[in-house]
Amino acid sequence: MKNSVFSFCLLLLSLPTMLFADIVYQGKRVQEWPAEARPTFDNSRGAPQMRALMKTTATTTQSHYAAPKGKIYSLTLLVDFSDKAAPVMVSEVEDWLNKEGFNRDGCNGSVRDYYLDVSNGQLDLVNEVYGWYRAKHPKSWYESLPGYTGSDSLMKEVFAYFDSQVDFSRYDNDKDGTTEAINIVYAGAGETWGQGLWPHSGWSSEKRDGVRLTHHQMTDMPGKFSIYVFVHESGHMIFGWPDLYWYGDYCTMGNRAHDLNPVAINDFYRADQGWIPFVDITSEDVDNVTDFEVTKPGEFCYRYKNPARPNQEGLVWSYVRNTGRNKVLAGSGLLMQHYDFSIEGNSASDKLGLRIVHASARIFGRDLPRHHLVQWFQNGTQDYRHRNARRNSHLLHRRKLHRAHIQFFNTSKFQQCR
Ligand SMILES: [Zn+2]
Repeated sequence: MKNSVFSFCLLLLSLPTMLFADIVYQGKRVQEWPAEARPTFDNSRGAPQMRALMKTTATTTQSHYAAPKGKIYSLTLLVDFSDKAAPVMVSEVEDWLNKEGFNRDGCNGSVRDYYLDVSNGQLDLVNEVYGWYRAKHPKSWYESLPGYTGSDSLMKEVFAYFDSQVDFSRYDNDKDGTTEAINIVYAGAGETWGQGLWPHSGWSSEKRDGVRLTHHQMTDMPGKFSIYVFVHESGHMIFGWPDLYWYGDYCTMGNRAHDLNPVAINDFYRADQGWIPFVDITSEDVDNVTDFEVTKPGEFCYRYKNPARPNQEGLVWSYVRNTGRNKVLAGSGLLMQHYDFSIEGNSASDKLGLRIVHASARIFGRDLPRHHLVQWFQNGTQDYRHRNARRNSHLLHRRKLHRAHIQFFNTSKFQQCR
């Protein structure tokens, strides 16, 4: 027993280090972009050429995160080293990032395909690729420097080298003076978490071609193709989404569940982007819950705002099916989440800005593999194992929303969960 508790704690300690790539701001790892460094996007100026492609949605509320729409131009700069030569050609990188139906090494589409799918065609991320540049030092030199100083050194070198070929202002899609997407892809694999060239989303204070190159991301290219890292780091860089620690497999900003077919963006973030509509449910709607019991997967995101803090906190739920982009999920059903924008990111297990609501303790042990159970039984999630919820033990397996679920949200328990 002592032994299993010990290994449980060890696993908890090692979770972030094993599974996540970071956001790095001014040389320091952060859980979420600080307020002054959050990505923004001005849709009134950006990407007007793709308006016709956008579907109209019911969302009229301001997005919490940066929400670019239409065709977004993204810059990818390739760099290799004397001790690690470019493992693939530029044209192969272009296919990896842009080609419809890209399936090398088992990838489920290109990076562009991924974002077209999860955005319902509303975000067309087009990567323009330059390279390969041979770095001044061997890879081992950058990898050996403390923290992310090796990355920052390489970043500056790469920006300087490509400046004569690249018009950086092209990647300021909304013309607000800052670029949205600059990617540095380096030859070889990331080696040590939190050090050297470990994949991450980073920050620079450089200004070139009249624009500030604020956000960028670094992804490794070991020679075998996979899209998870690029997709995940783009999530930090373009939208400003945080890492969802203690969250599980339900979003590509959460666990690294699959490298070749990374799980979709969660439906709450998708609705926040306007990719699917929010459907707001009030206490008066509770008697009519059967009216919204069935939806297609990823079609709507139902939202119940906490009446006491309607702009900050609430519950959302949607029907999730474990096919396609969500194939890696352990099951299908109604997935409920609690959000609280007054909590920054998911940086501590008892303070989660976004978390899965667990309706039934029974489901954990019975239906889900042990690693899920380990992730979910944390301080801060236990309030959700409330009597009302436990009685309705099918939350994750049924499409039907029970009245008791909303009543549960109105309880004082819920109010205390922050
Ligand atoms: Zn991350």
